[in-house]
Amino acid sequence: MTYVDLVLQRLSTDDERDAIVGGDTRLTRAQARDLLFRLADGLTRRGVERGDGVAVYVGNTPEAVLLNVAVHLVGGRLVYVPPEPGTAELKALIERAEVDAVVVDPEFGTQLDGWHLQDLPGDPVERTPAPDFATVMYTGGTTGLPKLAVHRSGKTGLWETRASRPPMNILSNTLITHGSGAGTAMTALLTGSKLVLGPSKFDADTFVRLARDEQINMTIFVPPMMYEVLDHPDCPGPQFHVMVGGAPLAPKRLRQAIEKWGPVVNQGYGMTEAHAIAMMPAAEVDLDRPDTLRTVGRRNPLMEVETRDGDVWVRGPFVMEGYWGEPTLEETSDGWFNTGDMGYFDDDGYLYLNDRSKDVIVTGRTSDNVYSRLLDDFLVTLPGIRQAAAVAQPDEALGEAVHLFLVTDGSDVDFDSIRDSVVAELGELYQPRGFTILPQLPSTLVGKVDKRKLRSQFR
Ligand code: AMP
Repeated sequence: MTYVDLVLQRLSTDDERDAIVGGDTRLTRAQARDLLFRLADGLTRRGVERGDGVAVYVGNTPEAVLLNVAVHLVGGRLVYVPPEPGTAELKALIERAEVDAVVVDPEFGTQLDGWHLQDLPGDPVERTPAPDFATVMYTGGTTGLPKLAVHRSGKTGLWETRASRPPMNILSNTLITHGSGAGTAMTALLTGSKLVLGPSKFDADTFVRLARDEQINMTIFVPPMMYEVLDHPDCPGPQFHVMVGGAPLAPKRLRQAIEKWGPVVNQGYGMTEAHAIAMMPAAEVDLDRPDTLRTVGRRNPLMEVETRDGDVWVRGPFVMEGYWGEPTLEETSDGWFNTGDMGYFDDDGYLYLNDRSKDVIVTGRTSDNVYSRLLDDFLVTLPGIRQAAAVAQPDEALGEAVHLFLVTDGSDVDFDSIRDSVVAELGELYQPRGFTILPQLPSTLVGKVDKRKLRSQFR
């Protein structure tokens, strides 16, 4: 049994309950089930067979969520396509993914040719879900060609555990073609929840409206989205549980969220290549114990997680099989994957992440490591600073020097005093050599701070 069987079971009870809401569309369970079968029929009529690659170039709409499930229903290999970058890159990605078909939503983008999502539905022919399928996910936040992580189905037992959670009204804020949005959509369908889709590009005004109108009691953010909501003049009061993750969460902001919403903020640590690595449940975060605001929690009991020379390595059912077109992890490293994150465990098994290895700033006469994340977290505790990103700037004498990109709340900030505060808190090594004030920090396709883009200004 795969998750598709369980989703179909859910959609076959309580016909009139809301299943998926997005934009102007509101689908009941019965309507969602009908459309799911129609989309599967449309795919097979056009010749899609088990094992075929189907690329989807779609935004956050109810139809697109069901399209993704339909590809799995017929046993296809679902290939997510990022909303950007340029046409040539997208075409190259499609080629590299070796797909047999492309489905596009022209309302989302016109850069690719393919079958139009709106024309795809055929007849609502009931069918038994294929026993296996695959998903190919692009890694976010990269320039040039993203890597394509392949995840396979067939892990019996995992879906059932997820499906046993109670139904909720879930607001998903990230792209459904990226790990977090896709995972949220699947969880919502599995649990028989109402899935409410935020727009493909997050905006806090819409969030505030949807949270109120759809009586949301569970929502999923990457940290910068949560910060925007917290800073919004109409930020909702306690009403929902939160799942936040996908990028470093500043302890100060986590504290603020808990003060605003109560002890309801769960943090997850995962990545495109390895989902659900660790989790910090809301109940274990204690405002009087600062470490509990810094940790990403304990490892998922189904996953093996180790640190080797400071790098976090993972193995288990939520780790990808490998990159498309490359040897599998099983073949190269006995299933182990180096996350590229640097971290350590404390004696109680809580994991702390220092930085991504590519964000570490190697500086000074002895080429020591400056963990940019420590700086980012500290800077936002200073008056007037709303967001901060420390990156490496090439420097003849130091190798790399610390440069700060800051977003202020409009007040004047004084660089000398910032530098003094940093040195007093974190030591001489962390001393920033330059800074730039920006109206906002650039973000990746999924809404995380894009440090690569910031670094590229120095090249
Ligand atoms: P992506 O593959 O684009 O989803 O990015 C995954 C990366 O985001 C991870 O390798 C981590 O560097 C970072 N990340 C994800 N979750 C967390 C978290 N809870 N805390 C800190 N960093 C995180």
